[in-house]
Formats: sequence, C-alpha cells, structure tokens
Amino acid sequence: MSQPGDEELERDEEVWTAGGSPLDRAVFNADGLLPAIIQQEGTGEVLMLGWMDREAMRRTLSEGRVTFWSRSRQEYWRKGDTSGHVQYVRSAALDCDADTLLVTVEQVGAACHTGTRTCFDGDPLRVAQGSAPAD
Ligand SMILES: [Zn+2]
Repeated sequence: MSQPGDEELERDEEVWTAGGSPLDRAVFNADGLLPAIIQQEGTGEVLMLGWMDREAMRRTLSEGRVTFWSRSRQEYWRKGDTSGHVQYVRSAALDCDADTLLVTVEQVGAACHTGTRTCFDGDPLRVAQGSAPAD
C-alpha cells in the first residue's frame, strides 16, 4: 500500500536496512499504532513510551526528531516543539516480532510532561524481589 512520504523513505532505504522498508515490516495494532520505547543513548535510561502510526514512525526515522501520534489529541506530536524537551534520534530498532519500536535518543531536559527526567522515576512500586540461585 502506497502512502504519502513513501518516496522519500525509499530513497533512504538502503541506508537504513537490508531487509526492506522498516515501515512495511513494522506490525501496527488494530488502531494502526505501535508502541515506541524511548531510551537515552549512553546511559540506557528508559525515558518514556509513546505511540506511533506509520507516518509518525516514518517521520521519526527520517527527520532526526521523535514524532508520536497523540491518542488523546488525535494529532501528530513532535516531542519538544512546545516544551523544548526535544528528542534527537540516534538509533532505532524493531523488536523480535516487529510490533514494538525502540528509539535511542539524545534527550534535552525532562522526557516526562510532569517535569521528571523519565516517566518512570516518580512512582517506584514495592515488589517482592527475586534472585537467581547461586551456582
Ligand atoms: Zn511521563
């Protein structure tokens, strides 16, 4: 299925992958979306999770900035345009069954809209910790 923007992608395709367009390999859910985990390059911090449709994924892979699809506002949302907390794309990978995207970024400031560095550092839960048995 051809969609606006595919030509631009195909031009860059060889650079990205030997296995065909990642947009065609990506598996989107029934709503046409795929979850994208955003991770800080270098430190490995898991910053946030957002949702992308095909076009948001295309923009993210080709424009150097992370773009999500906002499910609440039903519009594209390029991270940092209003907050200044830009995410510059450094690398990306689909997971083993191609239904989740990992994007490593250079994060400017807080990744979370609440102002914390990551979406996961504000509410640590109590867990029963497990350990691998000693050899
Ligand atoms: Zn958050």
